[in-house]
Amino acid sequence: MFNSTRLKLTGWYLLIIMVISISFSAVIYRVLTLEVDRLLSQQQLRLEQQLNNPEFFPPGMRGGRFSMPLIDPELVIELKNRLFFNLAIINALILVGAGVLGYILAGKTLRPIKVMIDEQNRFIADASHELRTPITALKTTLEVSLRDKKLSLKEARETLVSNLDDVNRLQTLSNALLELAHYQQRQPSQKKETTFLATAVNEAVRVVKPLAASKSLRISTKLYDGSVYMPAKELTDVLIILLDNAIKYSPEKTAILIAAYKHDSHVNLAVTDQGIGISPTDLPHIFDRFYRADTSRCTQSSDGYGLGLAIAKQTVERNQGTISVSSSVGTGTTFTIKLRSA
Ligand code: ADP
Repeated sequence: MFNSTRLKLTGWYLLIIMVISISFSAVIYRVLTLEVDRLLSQQQLRLEQQLNNPEFFPPGMRGGRFSMPLIDPELVIELKNRLFFNLAIINALILVGAGVLGYILAGKTLRPIKVMIDEQNRFIADASHELRTPITALKTTLEVSLRDKKLSLKEARETLVSNLDDVNRLQTLSNALLELAHYQQRQPSQKKETTFLATAVNEAVRVVKPLAASKSLRISTKLYDGSVYMPAKELTDVLIILLDNAIKYSPEKTAILIAAYKHDSHVNLAVTDQGIGISPTDLPHIFDRFYRADTSRCTQSSDGYGLGLAIAKQTVERNQGTISVSSSVGTGTTFTIKLRSA
């Protein structure tokens, strides 16, 4: 598809360039030949006058008025042919040059569109793959129950509970997908919204507190007393994702630290846990959509879909920030968000 569109676009570029070039050549040819004809007829006239002038040729030498052409018409035709030939060569060179340049330019024009389409296709493929598992589970349990003629009320209830689990998973997934699509569509805001760090951090901690309490995790903060360029809601959402992960992948009774410090014109906001850590092989991929590290290391990791960090990265980058991670298996993980200080 990409190549045929590229060729078509090259064809259009060429068509436009060649129409312009050939039109110009035709005009140049016409003007020059007219000019040559005009100059030659003037020259012919001048020569005729001089030949009939008694000062140049005494009457005895003249054989009467000259009516024959004094300039070889063959030469004129050759001149016009050469002009035509040269213009044709120039046009052929333009055709080749414009073809090559047009092909390169068409590739450059289409590249971002290709990247976007590839990305969208991958997204659809990943999303359908993720949706298939709970839908298949749902369908299978329903079919098995329907086929069972002696299905008891207790068994029917168990089926419903299992179905509800699958529906919940589907709901979580569709919400995450919607959120991702929502952030992808939004343009970076022109208005530079600032947020006082403590406000966003406190709000995020308030949201995840019950979850942390259920694992007896301690969340402490050590914050730089200032603001950053990022809307409060977006910063809070990102912090919730990071804290939610820190809680999910930490053993009970460990600590989570949220620290912020200013560095030049930026603020680094770090969330550090004492959890299971991320292996060096997983580390480069954890911001990819649907990527989940080895699930066997953590019983609760099946809760997620590998979308949280992709959403966090997109949100931070939309605000001209960056997000990075450092981790050591068995010791813990630190996610650092770098934002412009306000
Ligand atoms: P999920 O919903 O699966 O947690 P994320 O995109 O939030 O998806 O995270 C991707 C993967 O990165 C997770 O599956 C997990 O393996 C790893 N991960 C993220 N945060 C942490 C953390 N704090 N500690 C250990 N592993 C983590």
